[in-house]
Amino acid sequence: MSSRFVDSIMETVLARNPGEPEFHQAVKEVAESVAVVIDRHPELARAKIMERMVEPERQILFRVPWSDDRGEVHVHRGFRVEFNSAIGPYKGGLRFHPSVYLGIIKFLGFEQVFKNALTTTPIGGGKGGSDFDPKGKSDNEVMRFCQSFMNELFRHVGPDTDVPAGDIGVGAREIGYLFGQYKRLTNTFTGVLTGKGLEYGGSLVRNEATGYGLVYFVSRLLEARDKSWKGLKVVISGSGNVAIYATEKAQQFGAKVIALSDSSGYVVDERGIQLDTVKRIKEIERGRIREYADAHPSAKYEQGWQGIWSIPCDVALPCATQNEIDEPAAQALVRNGCIAVGEGANMPSTPEAIQVFLDSGVAFGPAKAANAGGVATSALEMSQNSMRLNWTFEEVDKRLQLIMNSIYDQCLAAAEAYNAKGNLMVGANIAGFLKVAKAMMAQGLV
Ligand code: NDP
Repeated sequence: MSSRFVDSIMETVLARNPGEPEFHQAVKEVAESVAVVIDRHPELARAKIMERMVEPERQILFRVPWSDDRGEVHVHRGFRVEFNSAIGPYKGGLRFHPSVYLGIIKFLGFEQVFKNALTTTPIGGGKGGSDFDPKGKSDNEVMRFCQSFMNELFRHVGPDTDVPAGDIGVGAREIGYLFGQYKRLTNTFTGVLTGKGLEYGGSLVRNEATGYGLVYFVSRLLEARDKSWKGLKVVISGSGNVAIYATEKAQQFGAKVIALSDSSGYVVDERGIQLDTVKRIKEIERGRIREYADAHPSAKYEQGWQGIWSIPCDVALPCATQNEIDEPAAQALVRNGCIAVGEGANMPSTPEAIQVFLDSGVAFGPAKAANAGGVATSALEMSQNSMRLNWTFEEVDKRLQLIMNSIYDQCLAAAEAYNAKGNLMVGANIAGFLKVAKAMMAQGLV
Protein backbone atom coordinates (compact mmCIF):
# COMPACT_ATOMS: atom_id res chain seq x y z
CA MET A 1 0.00 0.00 0.00
CA SER A 2 2.71 2.49 1.04
CA SER A 3 4.56 2.63 -2.26
CA ARG A 4 1.27 2.53 -4.20
CA PHE A 5 0.15 5.57 -2.21
CA VAL A 6 3.36 7.49 -2.96
CA ASP A 7 3.27 6.52 -6.65
CA SER A 8 -0.32 7.60 -7.05
CA ILE A 9 0.24 10.97 -5.32
CA MET A 10 3.35 11.63 -7.40
CA GLU A 11 1.69 10.64 -10.65
CA THR A 12 -1.01 13.26 -10.14
CA VAL A 13 1.36 15.92 -8.86
CA LEU A 14 3.77 15.44 -11.79
CA ALA A 15 0.99 15.51 -14.36
CA ARG A 16 -0.73 18.54 -12.87
CA ASN A 17 2.39 20.58 -12.04
CA PRO A 18 4.85 20.03 -14.90
CA GLY A 19 8.26 21.70 -14.78
CA GLU A 20 8.22 22.32 -11.02
CA PRO A 21 10.95 20.01 -9.65
CA GLU A 22 11.28 21.73 -6.26
CA PHE A 23 7.56 21.26 -5.62
CA HIS A 24 7.76 17.60 -6.67
CA GLN A 25 10.72 17.09 -4.33
CA ALA A 26 8.89 18.63 -1.36
CA VAL A 27 5.73 16.57 -1.95
CA LYS A 28 7.64 13.30 -2.42
CA GLU A 29 9.42 13.67 0.91
CA VAL A 30 6.15 14.22 2.79
CA ALA A 31 4.29 11.47 0.89
CA GLU A 32 7.03 8.95 1.68
CA SER A 33 6.98 9.92 5.35
CA VAL A 34 3.20 9.79 5.81
CA ALA A 35 2.50 6.63 3.78
CA VAL A 36 2.68 4.66 7.02
CA VAL A 37 0.08 6.98 8.59
CA ILE A 38 -2.26 6.43 5.65
CA ASP A 39 -1.78 2.66 6.08
CA ARG A 40 -2.81 2.90 9.69
CA HIS A 41 -5.71 5.33 9.09
CA PRO A 42 -7.77 4.22 6.08
CA GLU A 43 -10.29 6.98 6.83
CA LEU A 44 -7.61 9.51 5.75
CA ALA A 45 -7.11 7.61 2.50
CA ARG A 46 -10.88 7.50 1.86
CA ALA A 47 -11.19 11.24 2.49
CA LYS A 48 -8.28 11.81 0.03
CA ILE A 49 -6.60 14.06 2.58
CA MET A 50 -3.15 14.00 0.96
CA GLU A 51 -4.65 14.44 -2.52
CA ARG A 52 -6.36 17.57 -1.21
CA MET A 53 -3.25 18.82 0.61
CA VAL A 54 -1.09 18.84 -2.54
CA GLU A 55 -3.57 21.10 -4.32
CA PRO A 56 -3.32 24.72 -3.10
CA GLU A 57 -6.63 26.22 -2.00
CA ARG A 58 -5.91 29.27 -4.16
CA GLN A 59 -3.08 30.49 -6.43
CA ILE A 60 -2.80 34.13 -7.39
CA LEU A 61 -0.50 35.31 -10.20
CA PHE A 62 -0.27 38.96 -11.10
CA ARG A 63 1.59 41.60 -13.09
CA VAL A 64 3.88 43.99 -11.19
CA PRO A 65 4.93 46.96 -13.35
CA TRP A 66 7.27 49.61 -11.90
CA SER A 67 9.66 52.25 -13.19
CA ASP A 68 13.32 52.65 -12.19
CA ASP A 69 15.11 55.87 -11.26
CA ARG A 70 15.78 56.66 -14.94
CA GLY A 71 12.11 56.26 -15.79
CA GLU A 72 12.50 52.92 -17.58
CA VAL A 73 9.53 50.59 -17.12
CA HIS A 74 10.01 47.00 -15.90
CA VAL A 75 7.45 44.22 -15.59
CA HIS A 76 7.72 41.43 -13.03
CA ARG A 77 5.46 38.61 -11.95
CA GLY A 78 3.90 38.45 -8.49
CA PHE A 79 2.73 35.28 -6.72
CA ARG A 80 0.70 34.39 -3.66
CA VAL A 81 -0.14 30.73 -3.13
CA GLU A 82 -2.69 30.22 -0.36
CA PHE A 83 -2.05 26.58 0.36
CA ASN A 84 -4.03 25.45 3.35
CA SER A 85 -6.22 27.24 5.91
CA ALA A 86 -7.40 24.23 7.94
CA ILE A 87 -5.84 25.40 11.19
CA GLY A 88 -5.68 29.19 10.72
CA PRO A 89 -5.22 32.09 8.30
CA TYR A 90 -2.64 31.52 5.55
CA LYS A 91 0.80 32.48 6.82
CA GLY A 92 4.19 32.47 5.13
CA GLY A 93 6.79 34.80 3.73
CA LEU A 94 7.36 36.69 0.49
CA ARG A 95 10.54 35.98 -1.48
CA PHE A 96 12.00 38.51 -3.93
CA HIS A 97 14.72 36.79 -5.96
CA PRO A 98 15.31 36.40 -9.73
CA SER A 99 15.02 32.59 -9.40
CA VAL A 100 11.40 32.81 -8.16
CA TYR A 101 8.74 31.07 -10.27
CA LEU A 102 5.55 29.23 -9.38
CA GLY A 103 7.34 25.95 -8.53
CA ILE A 104 9.54 27.63 -5.88
CA ILE A 105 6.57 29.37 -4.28
CA LYS A 106 4.57 26.12 -4.28
CA PHE A 107 7.35 24.08 -2.65
CA LEU A 108 7.74 26.76 0.02
CA GLY A 109 3.97 27.07 0.56
CA PHE A 110 3.49 23.31 0.80
CA GLU A 111 6.26 22.94 3.41
CA GLN A 112 4.89 25.92 5.31
CA VAL A 113 1.61 24.09 5.98
CA PHE A 114 3.33 21.36 8.01
CA LYS A 115 5.88 23.68 9.62
CA ASN A 116 3.17 26.02 10.84
CA ALA A 117 1.22 23.10 12.27
CA LEU A 118 4.28 22.10 14.30
CA THR A 119 4.61 25.54 15.91
CA THR A 120 1.52 24.89 18.09
CA THR A 121 0.14 28.28 16.95
CA PRO A 122 -3.08 28.59 14.90
CA ILE A 123 -1.75 29.44 11.43
CA GLY A 124 -2.34 27.90 8.01
CA GLY A 125 0.25 27.83 5.22
CA GLY A 126 0.99 30.08 2.24
CA LYS A 127 3.88 31.71 0.43
CA GLY A 128 4.43 34.42 -2.15
CA GLY A 129 6.96 36.59 -3.86
CA SER A 130 8.29 37.82 -7.15
CA ASP A 131 11.14 37.37 -9.62
CA PHE A 132 12.19 40.95 -8.78
CA ASP A 133 15.79 41.33 -7.53
CA PRO A 134 16.18 44.03 -4.85
CA LYS A 135 19.98 43.76 -5.08
CA GLY A 136 21.58 46.89 -6.52
CA LYS A 137 18.29 48.82 -6.56
CA SER A 138 17.92 52.18 -4.82
CA ASP A 139 15.56 52.54 -1.83
CA ASN A 140 13.17 54.49 -4.07
CA GLU A 141 13.14 51.74 -6.67
CA VAL A 142 12.46 49.09 -4.02
CA MET A 143 9.68 51.28 -2.63
CA ARG A 144 8.01 51.70 -6.03
CA PHE A 145 8.20 47.96 -6.64
CA CYS A 146 6.73 47.14 -3.21
CA GLN A 147 3.91 49.63 -3.72
CA SER A 148 3.06 48.14 -7.10
CA PHE A 149 3.20 44.61 -5.66
CA MET A 150 0.79 45.59 -2.87
CA ASN A 151 -1.55 47.37 -5.31
CA GLU A 152 -2.69 43.88 -6.31
CA LEU A 153 -1.89 41.81 -3.22
CA PHE A 154 -3.95 43.94 -0.83
CA ARG A 155 -7.26 42.51 -2.06
CA HIS A 156 -6.19 38.96 -1.16
CA VAL A 157 -4.63 39.41 2.28
CA GLY A 158 -5.83 40.60 5.68
CA PRO A 159 -5.09 40.08 9.38
CA ASP A 160 -7.59 37.20 9.62
CA THR A 161 -7.21 35.93 6.04
CA ASP A 162 -3.59 35.79 4.91
CA VAL A 163 -0.64 37.32 6.73
CA PRO A 164 2.63 37.47 4.70
CA ALA A 165 6.10 38.07 6.16
CA GLY A 166 9.69 38.26 4.84
CA ASP A 167 11.96 35.67 3.24
CA ILE A 168 14.95 35.93 0.89
CA GLY A 169 15.18 39.52 -0.38
CA VAL A 170 12.33 40.75 1.82
CA GLY A 171 13.51 42.27 5.10
CA ALA A 172 12.49 45.18 7.33
CA ARG A 173 12.79 47.75 4.51
CA GLU A 174 10.50 45.85 2.12
CA ILE A 175 7.98 44.98 4.86
CA GLY A 176 7.80 48.68 5.77
CA TYR A 177 7.00 49.75 2.20
CA LEU A 178 4.46 46.94 1.76
CA PHE A 179 2.75 47.79 5.05
CA GLY A 180 2.60 51.50 4.23
CA GLN A 181 0.89 50.81 0.91
CA TYR A 182 -1.59 48.32 2.44
CA LYS A 183 -2.52 50.87 5.09
CA ARG A 184 -3.04 53.56 2.49
CA LEU A 185 -5.14 51.36 0.21
CA THR A 186 -7.40 49.97 2.92
CA ASN A 187 -7.44 52.80 5.47
CA THR A 188 -6.82 50.28 8.24
CA PHE A 189 -3.99 49.72 10.69
CA THR A 190 -3.85 45.99 11.31
CA GLY A 191 -1.37 43.15 11.70
CA VAL A 192 -1.61 42.22 8.00
CA LEU A 193 2.15 41.60 7.75
CA THR A 194 4.68 40.34 10.27
CA GLY A 195 8.32 41.29 10.59
CA LYS A 196 7.21 44.91 11.00
CA GLY A 197 9.40 47.60 12.58
CA LEU A 198 9.11 47.91 16.36
CA GLU A 199 7.66 51.43 16.00
CA TYR A 200 4.60 50.22 14.10
CA GLY A 201 3.53 46.89 15.52
CA GLY A 202 6.57 44.64 15.17
CA SER A 203 7.56 42.14 17.83
CA LEU A 204 10.82 42.01 19.69
CA VAL A 205 12.83 38.87 18.74
CA ARG A 206 11.12 38.51 15.32
CA ASN A 207 14.27 39.65 13.53
CA GLU A 208 16.41 37.15 15.43
CA ALA A 209 13.82 34.37 15.67
CA THR A 210 14.65 31.99 12.81
CA GLY A 211 18.38 31.95 13.60
CA TYR A 212 17.90 31.79 17.37
CA GLY A 213 15.21 29.11 17.03
CA LEU A 214 17.49 27.03 14.83
CA VAL A 215 20.21 27.09 17.47
CA TYR A 216 17.71 26.23 20.24
CA PHE A 217 16.57 23.25 18.16
CA VAL A 218 20.11 22.06 17.47
CA SER A 219 20.85 22.37 21.22
CA ARG A 220 18.34 19.56 21.73
CA LEU A 221 20.03 17.47 19.02
CA LEU A 222 23.37 17.97 20.75
CA GLU A 223 21.97 17.30 24.24
CA ALA A 224 20.60 13.98 23.00
CA ARG A 225 24.24 13.08 22.31
CA ASP A 226 25.53 14.46 25.61
CA LYS A 227 27.12 17.42 23.86
CA SER A 228 26.79 21.19 24.13
CA TRP A 229 27.77 24.06 21.80
CA LYS A 230 30.83 24.92 23.88
CA GLY A 231 33.98 24.85 21.75
CA LEU A 232 32.27 23.34 18.68
CA LYS A 233 33.37 24.55 15.23
CA VAL A 234 30.39 25.68 13.18
CA VAL A 235 30.05 26.42 9.46
CA ILE A 236 27.03 28.49 8.39
CA SER A 237 26.06 29.23 4.80
CA GLY A 238 24.45 32.50 3.79
CA SER A 239 24.97 35.82 5.53
CA GLY A 240 21.39 37.08 5.56
CA ASN A 241 18.84 37.25 8.34
CA VAL A 242 18.86 33.58 9.31
CA ALA A 243 22.64 33.11 9.08
CA ILE A 244 23.47 36.25 11.07
CA TYR A 245 21.22 35.41 14.03
CA ALA A 246 22.16 31.73 14.03
CA THR A 247 25.77 32.92 14.30
CA GLU A 248 24.90 35.29 17.13
CA LYS A 249 23.15 32.65 19.26
CA ALA A 250 25.70 29.89 18.54
CA GLN A 251 28.46 32.30 19.64
CA GLN A 252 26.49 33.20 22.80
CA PHE A 253 26.37 29.48 23.56
CA GLY A 254 30.15 29.20 23.27
CA ALA A 255 30.53 27.82 19.73
CA LYS A 256 33.11 29.10 17.26
CA VAL A 257 31.52 30.03 13.94
CA ILE A 258 34.32 29.95 11.35
CA ALA A 259 32.61 30.51 7.97
CA LEU A 260 29.78 32.42 6.30
CA SER A 261 28.90 32.88 2.61
CA ASP A 262 26.76 34.60 0.03
CA SER A 263 25.93 33.59 -3.53
CA SER A 264 29.36 34.82 -4.76
CA GLY A 265 31.68 33.07 -2.28
CA TYR A 266 32.56 32.37 1.34
CA VAL A 267 34.89 33.62 4.07
CA VAL A 268 36.75 31.46 6.58
CA ASP A 269 38.05 33.01 9.79
CA GLU A 270 39.58 30.35 12.01
CA ARG A 271 39.74 32.86 14.89
CA GLY A 272 35.95 33.05 14.81
CA ILE A 273 33.70 35.29 12.72
CA GLN A 274 33.43 38.87 14.04
CA LEU A 275 29.70 39.37 13.76
CA ASP A 276 29.75 43.17 14.12
CA THR A 277 31.64 43.36 10.83
CA VAL A 278 29.14 41.06 9.10
CA LYS A 279 26.19 43.10 10.40
CA ARG A 280 27.79 46.31 9.16
CA ILE A 281 28.50 44.88 5.69
CA LYS A 282 25.20 43.06 5.24
CA GLU A 283 22.60 44.93 7.30
CA ILE A 284 23.80 48.52 6.90
CA GLU A 285 25.89 48.74 3.73
CA ARG A 286 24.13 45.90 1.80
CA GLY A 287 27.61 44.77 0.66
CA ARG A 288 29.21 41.41 -0.20
CA ILE A 289 30.72 38.86 2.21
CA ARG A 290 34.11 39.18 0.49
CA GLU A 291 34.46 42.60 2.16
CA TYR A 292 34.80 40.76 5.49
CA ALA A 293 38.26 39.56 4.44
CA ASP A 294 39.30 43.16 3.68
CA ALA A 295 38.46 44.10 7.28
CA HIS A 296 40.04 41.00 8.90
CA PRO A 297 43.45 39.84 7.61
CA SER A 298 42.98 36.59 9.58
CA ALA A 299 40.18 35.66 7.16
CA LYS A 300 40.36 34.07 3.72
CA TYR A 301 37.85 34.63 0.91
CA GLU A 302 37.06 31.87 -1.59
CA GLN A 303 35.08 32.38 -4.79
CA GLY A 304 31.94 30.23 -5.29
CA TRP A 305 29.48 29.18 -2.56
CA GLN A 306 29.61 25.35 -2.81
CA GLY A 307 33.13 24.97 -1.39
CA ILE A 308 31.95 25.99 2.07
CA TRP A 309 30.90 22.38 2.85
CA SER A 310 34.47 21.13 2.41
CA ILE A 311 35.56 23.06 5.54
CA PRO A 312 35.99 20.66 8.50
CA CYS A 313 33.43 21.44 11.22
CA ASP A 314 31.43 19.84 14.05
CA VAL A 315 28.10 21.44 13.13
CA ALA A 316 26.81 22.63 9.74
CA LEU A 317 23.92 25.09 9.50
CA PRO A 318 22.81 25.65 5.89
CA CYS A 319 21.02 29.03 5.99
CA ALA A 320 21.09 30.22 2.36
CA THR A 321 18.77 28.45 -0.09
CA GLN A 322 17.21 25.21 -1.40
CA ASN A 323 19.36 22.25 -2.49
CA GLU A 324 22.62 23.89 -1.44
CA ILE A 325 23.95 20.62 0.08
CA ASP A 326 24.11 17.81 -2.48
CA GLU A 327 25.37 14.25 -1.98
CA PRO A 328 29.11 15.00 -2.46
CA ALA A 329 28.86 17.98 -0.09
CA ALA A 330 27.13 15.80 2.52
CA GLN A 331 29.81 13.12 2.12
CA ALA A 332 32.53 15.74 2.60
CA LEU A 333 30.88 16.97 5.81
CA VAL A 334 30.62 13.42 7.18
CA ARG A 335 34.21 12.59 6.18
CA ASN A 336 35.44 15.67 8.02
CA GLY A 337 33.71 14.66 11.25
CA CYS A 338 30.52 16.74 11.24
CA ILE A 339 28.17 15.45 14.01
CA ALA A 340 25.08 17.60 13.48
CA VAL A 341 23.28 19.42 10.66
CA GLY A 342 20.49 21.93 11.35
CA GLU A 343 18.57 23.28 8.38
CA GLY A 344 17.98 27.04 8.67
CA ALA A 345 17.10 27.46 5.00
CA ASN A 346 14.09 25.72 3.44
CA MET A 347 14.91 22.34 1.82
CA PRO A 348 18.68 23.08 1.75
CA SER A 349 19.67 19.40 1.55
CA THR A 350 18.85 17.24 -1.46
CA PRO A 351 17.14 13.87 -0.72
CA GLU A 352 20.47 12.11 -1.44
CA ALA A 353 22.29 14.38 1.02
CA ILE A 354 19.70 13.68 3.73
CA GLN A 355 20.18 9.95 3.17
CA VAL A 356 23.95 10.37 3.66
CA PHE A 357 23.34 12.13 6.99
CA LEU A 358 20.84 9.53 8.19
CA ASP A 359 23.04 6.58 7.12
CA SER A 360 26.08 8.09 8.83
CA GLY A 361 24.34 8.78 12.13
CA VAL A 362 24.69 12.55 11.83
CA ALA A 363 22.09 14.29 14.05
CA PHE A 364 19.78 15.87 11.48
CA GLY A 365 17.37 18.75 12.19
CA PRO A 366 15.00 19.09 9.20
CA ALA A 367 13.98 22.56 8.01
CA LYS A 368 10.25 22.22 8.76
CA ALA A 369 11.10 21.81 12.42
CA ALA A 370 14.45 23.52 12.86
CA ASN A 371 13.64 26.83 11.13
CA ALA A 372 10.06 27.14 12.41
CA GLY A 373 11.10 29.72 15.03
CA GLY A 374 10.63 32.56 12.56
CA VAL A 375 7.04 31.84 11.69
CA ALA A 376 6.27 30.91 15.30
CA THR A 377 7.43 34.36 16.39
CA SER A 378 5.40 35.87 13.56
CA ALA A 379 2.38 34.19 15.14
CA LEU A 380 3.38 35.79 18.46
CA GLU A 381 3.54 39.14 16.61
CA MET A 382 -0.02 38.52 15.36
CA SER A 383 -1.18 37.81 18.94
CA GLN A 384 0.40 41.03 20.23
CA ASN A 385 -1.17 43.01 17.35
CA SER A 386 -4.62 41.58 18.14
CA MET A 387 -4.25 42.43 21.80
CA ARG A 388 -2.66 45.80 20.97
CA LEU A 389 0.18 45.31 23.43
CA ASN A 390 3.87 44.40 23.30
CA TRP A 391 5.70 41.70 25.20
CA THR A 392 9.28 42.21 26.38
CA PHE A 393 12.27 40.65 24.62
CA GLU A 394 12.62 38.11 27.43
CA GLU A 395 8.93 37.15 27.26
CA VAL A 396 9.00 36.51 23.50
CA ASP A 397 12.35 34.72 23.66
CA LYS A 398 11.04 32.44 26.42
CA ARG A 399 8.00 31.58 24.32
CA LEU A 400 10.24 30.91 21.32
CA GLN A 401 12.36 28.49 23.35
CA LEU A 402 9.25 26.70 24.63
CA ILE A 403 7.95 26.37 21.07
CA MET A 404 11.26 25.01 19.71
CA ASN A 405 11.35 22.48 22.54
CA SER A 406 7.79 21.45 21.83
CA ILE A 407 8.55 21.03 18.12
CA TYR A 408 11.52 18.81 18.92
CA ASP A 409 9.42 16.70 21.29
CA GLN A 410 6.57 16.35 18.77
CA CYS A 411 8.97 15.19 16.03
CA LEU A 412 10.63 12.69 18.34
CA ALA A 413 7.30 11.28 19.54
CA ALA A 414 5.74 11.02 16.06
CA ALA A 415 8.83 9.27 14.68
CA GLU A 416 8.74 6.76 17.50
CA ALA A 417 4.99 6.16 17.17
CA TYR A 418 5.39 5.32 13.48
CA ASN A 419 8.45 3.04 13.62
CA ALA A 420 11.06 5.61 12.63
CA LYS A 421 12.68 6.19 16.01
CA GLY A 422 15.14 9.10 15.99
CA ASN A 423 14.32 10.19 12.41
CA LEU A 424 13.20 13.77 13.00
CA MET A 425 12.51 14.39 9.30
CA VAL A 426 9.90 11.66 9.23
CA GLY A 427 8.67 12.77 12.67
CA ALA A 428 8.23 16.40 11.53
CA ASN A 429 6.31 15.38 8.43
CA ILE A 430 4.02 13.01 10.34
CA ALA A 431 3.31 15.34 13.29
CA GLY A 432 2.54 18.29 10.97
CA PHE A 433 0.45 16.14 8.65
CA LEU A 434 -1.65 14.62 11.43
CA LYS A 435 -2.57 17.98 12.92
CA VAL A 436 -3.69 19.42 9.58
CA ALA A 437 -5.39 16.15 8.55
CA LYS A 438 -7.47 16.04 11.74
CA ALA A 439 -8.61 19.63 11.22
CA MET A 440 -9.52 18.92 7.59
CA MET A 441 -11.48 15.81 8.57
CA ALA A 442 -13.43 17.80 11.17
CA GLN A 443 -14.31 20.52 8.65
CA GLY A 444 -15.83 18.22 6.04
CA LEU A 445 -15.19 18.13 2.31
CA VAL A 446 -13.83 21.62 1.66
P1 NDP B 1 18.22 36.83 3.18
O1 NDP B 1 17.78 37.42 1.93
O2 NDP B 1 18.34 37.67 4.40
O3 NDP B 1 19.65 36.10 2.99
C1 NDP B 1 19.82 35.08 2.06
C2 NDP B 1 21.28 34.66 2.09
O4 NDP B 1 21.43 33.46 1.32
C3 NDP B 1 22.19 35.69 1.44
O5 NDP B 1 23.46 35.63 2.05
C4 NDP B 1 22.23 35.21 0.00
O6 NDP B 1 23.37 35.64 -0.73
C5 NDP B 1 22.26 33.72 0.18
N1 NDP B 1 21.69 33.07 -1.02
C6 NDP B 1 20.46 33.25 -1.56
N2 NDP B 1 20.31 32.54 -2.69
C7 NDP B 1 21.47 31.90 -2.86
C8 NDP B 1 21.92 31.01 -3.84
N3 NDP B 1 21.16 30.64 -4.88
N4 NDP B 1 23.17 30.51 -3.68
C9 NDP B 1 23.93 30.86 -2.63
N5 NDP B 1 23.55 31.72 -1.67
C10 NDP B 1 22.34 32.22 -1.79
O7 NDP B 1 17.24 35.59 3.45
P2 NDP B 1 16.95 34.81 4.80
O8 NDP B 1 18.16 34.75 5.65
O9 NDP B 1 15.70 35.35 5.36
O10 NDP B 1 16.58 33.36 4.23
C11 NDP B 1 17.57 32.32 4.08
C12 NDP B 1 16.86 30.97 4.03
O11 NDP B 1 16.12 30.77 5.24
C13 NDP B 1 15.84 30.80 2.90
O12 NDP B 1 15.83 29.45 2.47
C14 NDP B 1 14.52 31.11 3.58
O13 NDP B 1 13.42 30.52 2.92
C15 NDP B 1 14.77 30.46 4.94
N6 NDP B 1 13.91 30.92 6.02
C16 NDP B 1 13.85 32.24 6.36
C17 NDP B 1 13.06 32.65 7.41
C18 NDP B 1 13.05 34.06 7.90
O14 NDP B 1 12.42 34.31 8.94
N7 NDP B 1 13.71 35.01 7.24
C19 NDP B 1 12.18 31.70 8.12
C20 NDP B 1 12.38 30.32 7.73
C21 NDP B 1 13.20 29.98 6.70
P3 NDP B 1 23.25 36.82 -1.82
O15 NDP B 1 23.12 38.08 -1.02
O16 NDP B 1 24.48 36.74 -2.62
O17 NDP B 1 22.01 36.52 -2.63
